[in-house]
Amino acid sequence: MVLANGVPPPRPFFTAGAKITFFGRFSKRCPEKTHNSCRELGRKRRNHYLCRAMRLSDLSDIHTHHDGRSDALLSLPVARATDGCTTPFSLELHPWHVGISADALRLQLDEFRQAADALRHNPLLVAIGECGLDNHCDVPFAHQKEAFRCALATAHDLDLPVIIHCVGYWAEMMAAVREAGTSANIIHGFRKGTALATQLLNAGFSIALGEKFNPDVASLVPADRLFIETDESGEDIGKIREKVMACRPSGR
Ligand SMILES: [Zn+2]
Repeated sequence: MVLANGVPPPRPFFTAGAKITFFGRFSKRCPEKTHNSCRELGRKRRNHYLCRAMRLSDLSDIHTHHDGRSDALLSLPVARATDGCTTPFSLELHPWHVGISADALRLQLDEFRQAADALRHNPLLVAIGECGLDNHCDVPFAHQKEAFRCALATAHDLDLPVIIHCVGYWAEMMAAVREAGTSANIIHGFRKGTALATQLLNAGFSIALGEKFNPDVASLVPADRLFIETDESGEDIGKIREKVMACRPSGR
């Protein structure tokens, strides 16, 4: 069996309840060997990034809201993330929950930055997100954009990948990511067609597919840029992976 991103199946080194102490374990060499950031970043920074990147690719479920799983990346809002999570997690700033009033937004972004700062050395913090833009929610676009930029700046500062939620505002999302310069950007729950997928892939994004996905997109995304997720679905991650892999000519 090979994972969607082309690496062997994960070893179960995340044990729920155990504090991870192997932070430096993957810091000696680049597991991908070809990651652009490897060449661009200094040694210390690079190792830090690769350590995180390695763990991201070792997770079999890149985005979930169901807790208690050591092989999945749990999306957690600030209050729950700072409460002490014992499995890998990402720090969420969901566009649906961005403050409507200017005061609420300011307070929320202050709390988000403070939480990220407090968690920056926590090895279980693997990514920032989900964060992004959504044109089907009531939060004003300007507030969504400010929150998204804050999340991207945090990801850049902490050298973390970003899990992106995007509905409708594709051009705006891509512009914000380009401006922020974050190096690993994963569009989660992608359900659109091949034209948009191609545009995203050409711009350097990775794509995560969940319970509902376009089969043509599943066959299009290169193995090292494809991730699988449950998100809010109750379906087993193995089943979702099987469905995605069945659409791929190589079966991997
Ligand atoms: Zn989600």
